[in-house]
Amino acid sequence: MLDKIEKLKEVLSNPKKIVITTHRGPDGDAMGSSLGLYHFLSKMDHDVNVITPNDYASFLHWLPGNDKVIEYESSKEESESLVNNADVIFMLDFNHIYRIDGLAKNVEESNAYKILIDHHQDPQENIADLIFSEPSLCSTSQLLFEIIDDMKMSNLLDKNIAECIYVGIMTDTGSFKYSSTTSKTHNIIARLIDYGARNSEIHDLVYDNYSADRMKLLGYCLNDKLLLFPKNKSAIISLTNEELKKFNFKKGDTEGIINYALAIKDTIFAAFIVERDNVVKLSLRSKGDFKVNEIANKYFNGGGHENAAGGISNFDVKTTIEKVKEIINNYKEELNK
Ligand code: 5GP
Ligand code: MN
Repeated sequence: MLDKIEKLKEVLSNPKKIVITTHRGPDGDAMGSSLGLYHFLSKMDHDVNVITPNDYASFLHWLPGNDKVIEYESSKEESESLVNNADVIFMLDFNHIYRIDGLAKNVEESNAYKILIDHHQDPQENIADLIFSEPSLCSTSQLLFEIIDDMKMSNLLDKNIAECIYVGIMTDTGSFKYSSTTSKTHNIIARLIDYGARNSEIHDLVYDNYSADRMKLLGYCLNDKLLLFPKNKSAIISLTNEELKKFNFKKGDTEGIINYALAIKDTIFAAFIVERDNVVKLSLRSKGDFKVNEIANKYFNGGGHENAAGGISNFDVKTTIEKVKEIINNYKEELNK
């Protein structure tokens, strides 16, 4: 790690044109780490731009620096020109190039020095020139904080950086409850509060900021759409495009719904199936040692972490539900261990 820190310091030792990018459908960790790094590098006098493949949930739009974020889908030319002219490209919170979608080709072909900071398992080989990959950590945001510490540059930390990193750690740990949360995580959180992160307000801004439509959608999912398989400790919730429309779906509205399925007593595996723009996406969650990233990888061209993974289905919603039922049945011994 220390060699890499020295290399990173050397790369950043004079002003550079820097692009920061993150995965499609950026979540709290993706945006928190990207904007945290944005503020940090800007303070070092670099020329920095954050480019996301697409838009993200409105409960993240209050993040400091949000107005500077460039969305590839709506600003293709500008994004491509920034990527093509960058000296350095940071790749945050993903480790397979396909996860940046339309940006992948330009990033791959760019001559910029590429630096990956990520906490997912099995990074793609040679994805970057410098790879910080720590799958044991709860979040990319925690890894970013540790890197800044190791660079001995925590003197640059301020309220903006602290709030961004706080959001990343908070959202990727389910508010500090997942098993990836360690004493070090809490130590870092304590320091972030000391640097000015408004912890209680941040929880409100992210979690108590839903539209009435979203809350009704949640009620609908739990009342009408929850399939329970108590014998196999599993649950499925699914939503079609039409159902989303009925509840005036906005980006981010379905985030977190799967956690309610997993909150049901004795449920250790939950699948959330959602149709969006002709793509059927799955979110998988588990408790304990039932590894959902293996299922995402084997059946749905996806991956992720042991207890939180995702992927894409080649079938429509109805057939995907049947597929997941089959999987539950195939894994019944493991689910009942
Ligand atoms: P979510 O269910 O919140 O979309 O994703 C949970 C986790 O699963 C993400 O943090 C990411 O690690 C992983 N993930 C989600 N979708 C995909 C995908 O399409 N491919 C891969 N490799 N991982 C995914
Ligand atoms: Mn993450």
